[in-house]
Amino acid sequence: MNIITISAGSNCYLISQGEHHLMIDAGAPGMGAKIEKTMAQHQIAMEQIRYLVLTHGHSDHIGSAAFFQKKYGIPIVIHQNDINMIDNPFSQQMQATHPIGKMITWLGKGTMKRNPPQSFTPDLIITVPETNRLGFGETIHPLPGHTRGSMVITFPSGELFVGDILMHMLSPQPAYLWEDHAALQKSIQAVQQLPAKTIYYGHGRPTPASKIGQ
Ligand SMILES: [Zn+2]
Repeated sequence: MNIITISAGSNCYLISQGEHHLMIDAGAPGMGAKIEKTMAQHQIAMEQIRYLVLTHGHSDHIGSAAFFQKKYGIPIVIHQNDINMIDNPFSQQMQATHPIGKMITWLGKGTMKRNPPQSFTPDLIITVPETNRLGFGETIHPLPGHTRGSMVITFPSGELFVGDILMHMLSPQPAYLWEDHAALQKSIQAVQQLPAKTIYYGHGRPTPASKIGQ
């Protein structure tokens, strides 16, 4: 399995198994062309991207999803409970206590007002854990807290994509902001139980899974 990381307001990942590709998160609004260009540099045919999975509904992750759906017909996968964020980024209240979380929340609100995501209709809606639904051997685990519809994705070869449930800014940490703090804490415990070798974050560089929970 090959992984390309594209910095696009959040990390956009392209997972490749031979000629078949899976995109995880779509970056912030207006990032479509940058992501497209990086794919071209890696000689990825956009038409061979089977799905775009959104780890959650924050606009820095879903912002350019419509671009890929419209231009290439890539089906979009999202959890039922974050669909409300597509047309209203403020439909879920965010809370933070740490200064970094407060700063992200404040900056995020301004950015979402100025540059909201383009609307789209999801093609596949997740409500329960799913294994190999997308045909990559992946398991999608709904784990609410950061948002109501946050999901993490694991692969049998040990890659774990956590979205924003954990963030790697200065060091790997629980999300600095949340919709439901108790649910987030429960979800982090669940993430720590998942079989994984490497953790890929929505923000920041990957780390060995052993770094979490210390
Ligand atoms: Zn987020």
